[in-house]
Amino acid sequence: MKRIGNYINGRIHTPLKGGYIPVYNPAIGEQYAEAPDSTQEDLDLALAAAKKAFPIWAKTSQEERHKILTRLADLIDENFENLAKAECIDNGKPLWLTQRVDIPRASANIRFFANAITQYSSESHKMEKAINYTLREPIGVVAAISPWNLPLYLFTWKIAPALAVGNTVIAKPSEVTPMTAYLFSELCILAGLPPGVLNILHGNGASIGAALTDHPEIKAISFTGSTKVGREIAIKAAGSFKKASLEMGGKNANVIFADCDYDKMLKTTLRSSFENQGQICLCGSRILVEESIYDRFKKDFVDRVGKLVVGNPMNKNTKLGALVSEGHMEKVLSYVALAKEEGGTILTGGERVHPKGNENGWFVAPTVVEGLGPETRCNQEEIFGPVVTIMSFKTEEEAIDLANDSLYGLSCSVWTSNISRAHQLAAKIDTGIVWINTWLKRDLRTPFGGMKGSGMGREGGLEALRFFTDPKNVCIEYE
Ligand code: NAD
Repeated sequence: MKRIGNYINGRIHTPLKGGYIPVYNPAIGEQYAEAPDSTQEDLDLALAAAKKAFPIWAKTSQEERHKILTRLADLIDENFENLAKAECIDNGKPLWLTQRVDIPRASANIRFFANAITQYSSESHKMEKAINYTLREPIGVVAAISPWNLPLYLFTWKIAPALAVGNTVIAKPSEVTPMTAYLFSELCILAGLPPGVLNILHGNGASIGAALTDHPEIKAISFTGSTKVGREIAIKAAGSFKKASLEMGGKNANVIFADCDYDKMLKTTLRSSFENQGQICLCGSRILVEESIYDRFKKDFVDRVGKLVVGNPMNKNTKLGALVSEGHMEKVLSYVALAKEEGGTILTGGERVHPKGNENGWFVAPTVVEGLGPETRCNQEEIFGPVVTIMSFKTEEEAIDLANDSLYGLSCSVWTSNISRAHQLAAKIDTGIVWINTWLKRDLRTPFGGMKGSGMGREGGLEALRFFTDPKNVCIEYE
């Protein structure tokens, strides 16, 4: 059985207390590796290394940081097949998805911020007989905590800007999917990343994650995960005046008007509902359809959903792989049961499946539910699996009210060919991202994050560089 280690001070370490936690292959429902159950002692070691490395890394020239980070991105590209396969085994998602999205994006994240730092400039403000200029300085030792749904993709999304501007980092990947972060630590050694600049601690959120966020010497926390844990981190960070950037859950609406490009909408809605088994914070789980095309949409959508292939993530024609863990599968199935209790009708799916050859894997059929009101728990709570609800609306106002009827506010997709309506909805919908006639189209320069219970702060582009630096104003009077 493969045993992975922490990455501390430039070396792979066994956990100091010797504890390990199991790592599972969701497609076969069996343990295949183990990861450190890190403790305070490992954190102390990582913190000492990160603190020692900080003054040197912070003063390293931008060109040098650019060079090392670019080398890391190159190494991801050179190890593409190995990483893609590892992500597929660890998470249960289709191999084609890790090849097309997860691993290319991990290298793009690092390359993007390696380049961004060479272009990053700060403001100056002229006054009469004086000038102000803003220095943007790295903060110190910062924490990056990431989830299991896009493991290496979101891990690199956080560490790349933090490192590019000169911080040192202690990162904690999800204990559910630690493998690619471990393989990444081996690439850091090959890339010649100076010891202590990045440290990776594996282990449970409630133990090592909490210890990391509690620590007074951690100056900032970038977190992606559930709203529940994000709230805990926000409370702790406020108590110790840490900066916190929180990317949290979503319950995103997909608003479909009769005047949309129907074929494009249908194809994209299949993706936005079920890509990554519905385990993307940006998936559209509440589908709102204008009444005049509701019946047509329902028939076509349910027909197509019923044909999606669920099975071995290594197969090219598999559209949905396994859910990430047995516990998560049970949670998703409990929402299907709840949907029935709340008066919903399951139009397709709604059960665990046992694909041939992967009978014990954690698979759930893509599920469409009809007949639930906006106030029901299934329409209010994040299910984070292959379960969507469909509802009809009559007017634009009703569509906006339904879309905004949520404690979350991450993203929304609007489908219409009426440009005036598109702009009006974009302004009136309370989400951090609004897509018009598309979904998941991302430019890494744009601000990324959510409103309400979906986020605090923004990452991406300049926003991330700003988050990971402290601005200092210098005012010079010259007469
Ligand atoms: P989670 O909140 O359970 O865990 C996320 C990370 O936090 C993990 O590394 C975990 O170990 C750690 N953690 C758990 N408890 C902690 C604690 N008390 N203190 C410090 N760290 C702790 O989330 P998850 O189940 O891994 O991921 C799914 C969630 O992530 C969903 O809600 C999804 O919407 C959200 N998500 C959001 C975005 C976004 O950009 N907004 C992107 C991806 C996923």
